[in-house]
Amino acid sequence: MPTLKNEPDTCREYGFCNCLECGAVVKKDITLCPRCHSHLHSRKPKSLQKSWMFLITSIILFFPANLLPITYTRTIGQPVQVDTIMSSILFLWHHGSYAVASIIFVASIFTPFFKIAVLLYLLTHPAPKRPPVIQTKLYRFIHFVGRWSMIDVFVVALLGALVQNNLASITPGAGIFAFAAVVVATMFATEQFDIRILWDKYRDYSCKNQS
Ligand SMILES: [Zn+2]
Repeated sequence: MPTLKNEPDTCREYGFCNCLECGAVVKKDITLCPRCHSHLHSRKPKSLQKSWMFLITSIILFFPANLLPITYTRTIGQPVQVDTIMSSILFLWHHGSYAVASIIFVASIFTPFFKIAVLLYLLTHPAPKRPPVIQTKLYRFIHFVGRWSMIDVFVVALLGALVQNNLASITPGAGIFAFAAVVVATMFATEQFDIRILWDKYRDYSCKNQS
C-alpha cells in the first residue's frame, strides 16, 4: 500500500469502502451494505462519463435557453411582447428595478455559466500536483448553488399566475423550458461528478514522485 508523507491514508487503500448512506465501513469487494442494504461503491460508478454527458447536454441547451423567448405578454390593444431572459433583465433595469434585474441576471445567466465553466475545469483537470483543495471548494460551491438556480422558472410561473385577467396575460415560451433543462442537467452533472477522483489522481501523482 503506498503511503504519503503528511497525508492521511484513505479507506480505499486499506481495502475498505465507506457506505455513504449509513456510514458503515465494509470490505471493498462487498457490493451491498450489510447494514442498510444500499449499493456500495468506493467511487461513483462511471462518474466522469455521466458527468460529461449531462454537461454537454447543458452546454447545448444553454443557447436556446438564452436565445428563445421565455415569455409572451399579451395586453389588449398592444402588440404581443416577446422576451428572452436578457431582454427581460434589460426591461427591469431600464424601469428602475435594479435589485430584481441583478438577482435574475446572477441566477439565470451568471450562475449556469459559472457552473458549466467550473465543471469543464474539473473534468478536464489533469493530475493535480498539489492537494486539490480549491477544486474541492469550487465543487462544494456549485453543489450548493444548484438548488437556487430555478428562480427564473419561479418568476415566470408566478407572473403567469398573477397576470392572468381579461386585459393581459403572460404565457411561458420555449426558452424557459430549455432554461429549466439547463439547470437540471447541470445539477445532474454536478451530482454525478466524484471529487474524490481528483484526490486519487493527486495521490497517485504524489506517490510516484515522492522521494
Ligand atoms: Zn449502509
